[in-house]
Amino acid sequence: MAPLSLRPETLELHLRDPFRISRGVQTVARPVLAHIADGEREGVGEAAPSSFYGETGDTVRACLALFGDLLGDDPFAFQRIIDAMDSRIRLNPAAKAAVECALHDLAGKRLGMPVYRLFGLDPERTPQTSFTIGIAEPEEMARKAAAANDYPILKVKVGTADDAARLRAIREVRPDARIRVDANAAWVTPRVAARAIEQLARFDLQFVEQPLAPGDPDDLRWLRQHSPLPIFADESCVTAADVHRLAGAVDGVVVKLAKCGGLRAALLQIQAANMHGMQVMIGCMIESSVGITAAAHLTPLVEFADLDGNLLVSDDPFRGVQVKDGKLVLPDAPGLGVERVVPPSEASVAHAGVETP
Ligand SMILES: [Mg+2]
Repeated sequence: MAPLSLRPETLELHLRDPFRISRGVQTVARPVLAHIADGEREGVGEAAPSSFYGETGDTVRACLALFGDLLGDDPFAFQRIIDAMDSRIRLNPAAKAAVECALHDLAGKRLGMPVYRLFGLDPERTPQTSFTIGIAEPEEMARKAAAANDYPILKVKVGTADDAARLRAIREVRPDARIRVDANAAWVTPRVAARAIEQLARFDLQFVEQPLAPGDPDDLRWLRQHSPLPIFADESCVTAADVHRLAGAVDGVVVKLAKCGGLRAALLQIQAANMHGMQVMIGCMIESSVGITAAAHLTPLVEFADLDGNLLVSDDPFRGVQVKDGKLVLPDAPGLGVERVVPPSEASVAHAGVETP
């Protein structure tokens, strides 16, 4: 086989509505694809960089330029290639995830096997995904929650001055929904968080994601003891070592390919969480169906999924995992099983523009 070649491609995805969380608003996302070709077939993976974790489109493209010549000619050499990327540059997990997922896509295509099967997973065991309602005025959030009636689980972004009014408005139109909330580190102290959670618990919530800024796990441990709702860590939990650090301090962790660096790293994190008796939700960034589908292939392993980043954009150029009655339906085509439905356009050229938060 010919040496593997790597070609980056920047996508420009537009949010259907401005997406607001407690620390900012986003209207466009510019994930970077890694296309890896062996002369016969091509695999694709996606980097969804977040400046919160130290990555931007520019840093991803710079990393991909560093990785092009270390791939060799064997897409199954996951261990060697991941080690080589790690020795070339530390951190940068989203960039590494793009390469690692593209290798899995290509390896699956060579074997004629979907990625979930490479991991030996049962595609019937995917969980339902939540659909995320960003922060807006209460009536607007209720309108979106009502419109999302295909989704039995909602994830509501909180961390405003009046979250209760927003939850009440949503509960009125969606009494049926299971609702989880995500504060994205909005509450300033464990006591403030405990009071806020106390206020919100009457709306019958599943769990609270990332109540506090990443920091001392003992703060989360205290909060967990004083919270009527389970606590999940997202921003606080980036690597498998973080899972270990948070053991006993939270009920569950949120695993994302863009945080941990790829499918194999995600698997390690999931196993670490299982060993500590913690639950796992697989989450995402705003990204196309390439990244969402890659993450979805691992969801038979976990209790919860929050894989709706592709559903929040109006111009996803790919088709992959589908959602039926809320449940993730994995494609059974070889590799990731994603298909390009909109050809590359003028929009998908390397942007040097500023990333939105
Ligand atoms: Mg989150």
